[in-house]
Amino acid sequence: MGSYRIGVLQGDDIGPEIVPQAVAVLAAAQEVSPGIELEWIDMPIGARAYAETGYTLPPGTLERLAGMDGWILGPLGHAAYRRDDPNAVNPHPLIRRHFDLYANIRPSRSIRGVPALHEDVDLVIVRENNEGMQPDRNMHRGGGEIMPTPDVALSTRVITRRGSQRIARAAFEIARARGETRRAAGLAHPCGERPTVSIIHKRSVFKLTCGLFVDTALEITRDFPEIDVDDFHVDSFAMALAMKPQRFDTVVVTNMFGDILSDLAAGLVGGLGLAPGLNAGDTYAMAQATHGSAPDIAGRNIANPYAIIMSAQMLLAWLGRKHSDPAALSAGEKIERAVHATLARDRIRTPDIGGGATTDAFGRAVIARLRQEG
Ligand code: ATP
Repeated sequence: MGSYRIGVLQGDDIGPEIVPQAVAVLAAAQEVSPGIELEWIDMPIGARAYAETGYTLPPGTLERLAGMDGWILGPLGHAAYRRDDPNAVNPHPLIRRHFDLYANIRPSRSIRGVPALHEDVDLVIVRENNEGMQPDRNMHRGGGEIMPTPDVALSTRVITRRGSQRIARAAFEIARARGETRRAAGLAHPCGERPTVSIIHKRSVFKLTCGLFVDTALEITRDFPEIDVDDFHVDSFAMALAMKPQRFDTVVVTNMFGDILSDLAAGLVGGLGLAPGLNAGDTYAMAQATHGSAPDIAGRNIANPYAIIMSAQMLLAWLGRKHSDPAALSAGEKIERAVHATLARDRIRTPDIGGGATTDAFGRAVIARLRQEG
């Protein structure tokens, strides 16, 4: 029996509306999947935690998370946190760093019938998560930005051989798994029969940092002879992604470029409401949608819970692979089928993708599908 302890951190604004939908969908998947047991542990984080405890990341949270198998993190409205209080930190970079969640895996997939700029897109961006340009996580102590004078500001970019090796290996393994899934289903990817990893960089300018990233990723290719590799300068990749996203399969990229490109990729297939994500390391994983806390639509029961539901689905599938647990893998597949049937066949959609369904109604419809199809 695969038994997993999952933390639930609802987050801010739309977080308390969408995260319970993800929990309810996983709980329903558990009902129809004998052999897995999920235990849920609710933990405060963000603005609610601050109001209750004086901390956006209450003391003891990291220690408690360490006793779990994974967790679901709702979006955090950190831009609205107090700037004059060191206890009002943005928690998610700290969590990513503390648990060494070095891979941010962000798929973009077209869904039949859902209006979008492109059809037949099926790509995944594998973004390095803990170094690069991000000043809140790229230093051991201190921040990666400094102001030597009031009129000069500097940013530091950190690229390491180890960080590049790990993210490249993660990307090649994902490409391999995607290839196997397609082969098993008898499907071809528009970019060709063989899985492909695209390495994104700007080594013509960042000769040392992007140079180290690309050279290290190319060394990893030797262990994956069945996978094709190409590489693009980030600017020409951005154009190619906007014009012909169907030609990409698995994309490996440094932190900041990856953050920008994954929002662009989400925009091509229907927007942020359809953009799930997983932060994964070797020991832990955290489900976290690509989108922020969407304060502009909070409290109206109209946010799209797809992204967080599918992020939680990615967590379950990650646990299934990690523990070689067929029941968790099968539950993950059931969720994926139910969610896509709800959108494509039942045409139940939230307003961001042209529908009229509420957040709750979408969650209920996915659960009904799961129960119906078992
Ligand atoms: P962050 O910097 O924290 O990632 P952001 O500034 O990119 O946040 P979001 O909170 O992601 O901003 O919101 C961007 C836009 O996307 C807003 O108009 C918001 O309403 C919309 N949006 C984000 N998530 C969803 C969702 N799940 N469902 C519907 N609309 C969403």
